[in-house]
Amino acid sequence: MEKIELLYEGKAKRIWRTEDENLLISEFKDDLTAFNGEMKSSEAGKGALNNQISTELFKMLANNGIQTHFIKMLDNNHMLHKACNVILIEVIVRNIATGSLSKNLGIENGTILPFTLVEFDYKNDALGDPKLNDQHALILGLVEYQDELDKLRRMARQINDILKPYFFEKGLKLVDFKLEFGKDKSGNIILIDEISPDNCRFWDIESGESLDKDRFRKGKGGLKVAYENVLNRILQH
Ligand code: 5GP
Repeated sequence: MEKIELLYEGKAKRIWRTEDENLLISEFKDDLTAFNGEMKSSEAGKGALNNQISTELFKMLANNGIQTHFIKMLDNNHMLHKACNVILIEVIVRNIATGSLSKNLGIENGTILPFTLVEFDYKNDALGDPKLNDQHALILGLVEYQDELDKLRRMARQINDILKPYFFEKGLKLVDFKLEFGKDKSGNIILIDEISPDNCRFWDIESGESLDKDRFRKGKGGLKVAYENVLNRILQH
């Protein structure tokens, strides 16, 4: 399957049209951005690591009954997937307080939440991805029905229920992560985008070290080694 035309370039991926209107190719870039594009850098090999990590996680989730857009990994930086109508809601799942939750609500960093928190952000760079409630999402027309918002929450919790123990067994705490969903050509809501250390926070159970994009956000270095560490744990069965 070949790339025919660039449809969209995001901060971490380029999306290409293919000869099949139902299929797209995502090209994973080495670029790194944080704080809505205020911090920028690049790390050779980061895109390939995220492609491989996402591939393994999409396969594992599909084996556990989660519908995703994933078809196959084409090469180091390219993934073939279904074309979907993207729902412009970032679904944030949190098991442990950190990041913007700690900053905005004053919950101490590292506090284990009494239950898994699922939040919605509006996927809109110009507005800085603001928080959404259900009424905002419906007024903006991001989905048509309340049922669809309920389904996003339900799927996000199901995915967390699979990923959290999976990573725990591999010595990592799944602190929080961001998911994106789309509608396939039959109108089914399915998981899209990627699942990688760019949009998840992983803390090593023993050392407490961050093995994710917080290394870049906090200027710590060692990003590629951290992402390789996550991939190696995923590949260990
Ligand atoms: P926070 O709201 O604390 O900044 O992020 C919560 C979680 O969602 C983190 O795992 C973070 O990586 C992810 N996340 C939130 N917004 C975005 C985003 O716009 N892009 C990416 N790649 N991840 C995000």
